Amino acid sequence: MLAYTYVSKGMFELREKPRPVLQDPRDAIVRVTLSSICTSDLHIKHGSVPRAVPGITVGHEMVGVVEDLGSDVHGLRPGDRVAVNVETFCGHCYFCRHGWVNNCTAPNGGWALGCRIDGGQAEYVRVPYADQGLSKIPEAVTDRQALFVGDILATGYWAADISEISPEDTVLILGAGPTGICTLQCVLLKNPRQVVVCERDPVRLDFVRRHYPQVLTLRPEEASAFLAAHSPHGGADRVLEVAGGEDTFSLAWQCARPNAIVTVVALYDAPQVLPLPDMYGKNLTFKTGGVDGCKCGEILDLIAAGKLDTTPLITHTYPLSRIEEAYDLFEHRRDNVIKVAIENHA
Ligand SMILES: [Zn+2]
Ligand SMILES: [Zn+2]
Repeated sequence: MLAYTYVSKGMFELREKPRPVLQDPRDAIVRVTLSSICTSDLHIKHGSVPRAVPGITVGHEMVGVVEDLGSDVHGLRPGDRVAVNVETFCGHCYFCRHGWVNNCTAPNGGWALGCRIDGGQAEYVRVPYADQGLSKIPEAVTDRQALFVGDILATGYWAADISEISPEDTVLILGAGPTGICTLQCVLLKNPRQVVVCERDPVRLDFVRRHYPQVLTLRPEEASAFLAAHSPHGGADRVLEVAGGEDTFSLAWQCARPNAIVTVVALYDAPQVLPLPDMYGKNLTFKTGGVDGCKCGEILDLIAAGKLDTTPLITHTYPLSRIEEAYDLFEHRRDNVIKVAIENHA
């Protein structure tokens, strides 16, 4: 089968590999119908994910059809359409029992797919702990609607959840990339008083204005002063930092009112500074990522009910045979790309 492979730093290649087989009674083999490229794949390509193992198939956002199941996987049958979770988790350890599946202590716990073990930019993928990490896609939901459920939509859903948003809140989201927009959709489900999105890129700002007219948009240089003047308590009640830019962490806490919650979802390239003397007396609460992606069933139900729709994020579609071109487009942000879907034909 074809599998897009991390060869060495700076180099991915479409290679012919054997089809994966079951290795454990809790494994499933999934025939991938649709996958996507994530910014984390680019981080692997450029060598900034030290855990990534050369030779592995990349890709951790995918949907497909169950092909084969280990004897301990219950509740699924071959032929079922499933969303695959970015995280593989055992469901039994201390962290899993608390819903903190990102920190699962099992050997393949956390983000393994497409990083430490073969992922889904391929025709087939082996999914460990399949009873935990596969979610059946409801009949009424298409593959394209379900594509982001296991990764960026799970991230947005988790971020909105841990931010403890109430109807009186002014919520500021920094960054309107794919994860920022998923976060925005999940924040809107909480019905806060006002949602503000801060973004530098005019294409992304325009996307937000067209799809979410109820949302206020700001550029980074105006955000802090605007929120101080126009929110009831001198700043945002909740800040969700999804940008991961050079100075977006400091912007996040500067835009927050005293006693606010600042949720940091972004993954930074460099260490960030927490200047405690400057924020003394502001009494902020910080919460940090990565995602605990264990609510995919709830997310799929919301999609089926028409309350979440991430299909407008898919601006381009390529067949697996042309994934090289898809990466080039995505990495260089050509042609107003937001997300690329990679299609496999049965
Ligand atoms: Zn990802
Ligand atoms: Zn676990």
